Amino acid sequence: MQTKLFIGGEFVDAVGGETLPILNPHDGSELAQIALAGRADVESAVGAATAASEGWATTSAAERGRYLGKLADAIEAAADELARLESTDTGHPLRDSDTLDVPRTAATFRYFAGMADKVEGSVIPVEPGFLNYLMRAPLGVVGQIVPWNFPLMFCGWKLGPALAAGNTVVMKPSELTPLSSLRLAELVRDVGIPSGVVNIVPGLGETAGAAIAEHPGIAKVSFTGSTATGRKVVEASAGNLKRLQLELGGKGANIVFDDADLTAAVNGSAFAIFHNQGQACIAGSRLFLHEQIAAEFTQRFVALAESIRVGNPLDPDTEMGPLTSALHRDRVLAYVKVALDDGAEILTGGGPPQGRPDLELGYYVAPTVVLADPASRVCQEEVFGPFVTISTFREEDEVVAMANGTDYGLGGGLWTRDLSRAHRMARRIRTGMVWINSYKRVSPASPFGGVGRSGYGREMGFEVMHEYTEAKSVWVNVEAD
Ligand code: NAD
Repeated sequence: MQTKLFIGGEFVDAVGGETLPILNPHDGSELAQIALAGRADVESAVGAATAASEGWATTSAAERGRYLGKLADAIEAAADELARLESTDTGHPLRDSDTLDVPRTAATFRYFAGMADKVEGSVIPVEPGFLNYLMRAPLGVVGQIVPWNFPLMFCGWKLGPALAAGNTVVMKPSELTPLSSLRLAELVRDVGIPSGVVNIVPGLGETAGAAIAEHPGIAKVSFTGSTATGRKVVEASAGNLKRLQLELGGKGANIVFDDADLTAAVNGSAFAIFHNQGQACIAGSRLFLHEQIAAEFTQRFVALAESIRVGNPLDPDTEMGPLTSALHRDRVLAYVKVALDDGAEILTGGGPPQGRPDLELGYYVAPTVVLADPASRVCQEEVFGPFVTISTFREEDEVVAMANGTDYGLGGGLWTRDLSRAHRMARRIRTGMVWINSYKRVSPASPFGGVGRSGYGREMGFEVMHEYTEAKSVWVNVEAD
């Protein structure tokens, strides 16, 4: 297991020699002591990325694409090992790491491998005598700050486009879940990506993260995490007016109309909230049910929630694992009290899984379903756990107001057989992404991101190439001697 910082193509200890224990969320045991990056290590990573910058930017785009393709191959070759590492470190059920996280990471690198030589400019019709063309130039050194909920997949989302565009990278994984990104660093080295192009420095947010956000040698920061931390990154970035891309929190509305296919809606809504223990920014954490189907839907949904197999993430039968840290488990459980204080009714869950002594040492929370007022705190604040609120509605306008009645605007979904209503609602819901008769679909080809307090900028698709390049206008006097 790799535990050192990856700087300038080498695995090194932290300058100050600090280390941090990484815990297994299934039982709290220590998995590893990792080198903990501080400000001096970020400095050295920025130095390595700066030294590599010109060489990488002038490597042909096709060649950069070839490196990314090789990285996708290497991820596939190490898939079993990566899936187990991700599940052990984060608590994701192995069946998800195996079939979603790892293949999606490889697919993302492969998509951006193909993108590298398709980032074209344009010729602009200006006055006669001049040729004006627009090229898309890389930014230089970019900083990338990643949370703990999908550590490996987010490496793909962030490294893929940044490298395809010709930037070099200093990436800080979350201090809670750095193991898969350090294994990825070994693959980066093994496929021959030149030293310094990718640097991976796990460290604490307030030291290593803040150092990246402030650093004058970093041109842009791509940040994924909470809205509160996003705000700090904005403030810290002001010194050199860094470009920012902020993927922040969410409070996804998931709306079920009375004409929906109820079986599909119940199953899809359970996936929307309970996949990855609800630790997903796009989780469908607010269910809005039309009053005609509310009773039947709720009864079937609660029964499904109670049937979810919670357990050791490495057990192939497990459908829901532990939350990623003890602190986060406590945060989620604190919302049960908030809900009760606000007059909500807990329909199921609300604590650790009952009658499971085998899970007592881990950070487990049973799937929790709560009947709540849409204006109450649990319907307004991001809980980020297996915790879903249910509220009912009668009219379309009413549910639009409820869905849009938060400061977040990341993802949202609706279930209906009425085609006109589906498209009308997609327009009216104020989010960056809408799913119709499905929820939580993502693809490297489709832009991902939010509005309002969910942040700005987009990951993935061609859209993200604009985030990692600068439009550069070149004027040529074609009549000059
Ligand atoms: P967090 O904001 O606590 O931490 C995210 C990252 O920021 C970590 O690497 C952390 O070390 C770092 N950090 C902390 N303080 C910092 C500072 N002062 N300066 C710079 N970096 C700092 O978030 P988290 O608890 O790790 O992740 C959960 C949050 O992430 C949730 O709010 C979730 O919605 C959000 N999220 C958003 C998306 C999205 O695409 N919109 C995706 C996943 C998660």
